[in-house]
Amino acid sequence: MKNCPNCDSKELKKVKRDVSLNHPEYGELVLKDIAGTECQNCKEVFMSPKENIEYTRQLTDVLRERENLLTSEEIVAIVAKIRRQYKISQRKFEIILGIGEKSFSRWISGKVKQSISSDNMLRMIRENPRYIAKIQRLRIHSKKEA
Ligand SMILES: [Zn+2]
Repeated sequence: MKNCPNCDSKELKKVKRDVSLNHPEYGELVLKDIAGTECQNCKEVFMSPKENIEYTRQLTDVLRERENLLTSEEIVAIVAKIRRQYKISQRKFEIILGIGEKSFSRWISGKVKQSISSDNMLRMIRENPRYIAKIQRLRIHSKKEA
């Protein structure tokens, strides 16, 4: 961004600030250190697409903490651990769990919150990764290999 989209000023400055928002169910939520660009003339703050993605991820994680769901960071750790241990792709992991394509990337980016049942499944796998092999065995005769 070279000029302010609002007033066309060139005086733009990178800022990081806490953003407070009012959630219909949880009331005031505060997101920490949200990055953006502030126009020094009109004081409008803008977010790049990348900053906007990060904002969404933080917001979803704050909601997850309220709802006792795994955060994006915890999901990343589980996926990395299973991929390392079983040498499978992220897609293969999704197929084994029976969740839709790109579910992990949507959950990790915070675009979508995982369901409570998916969250339970991930917690069980985190505690005992062997469940992965067990799920595969249980399904092998009841479903064609994807
Ligand atoms: Zn401006």
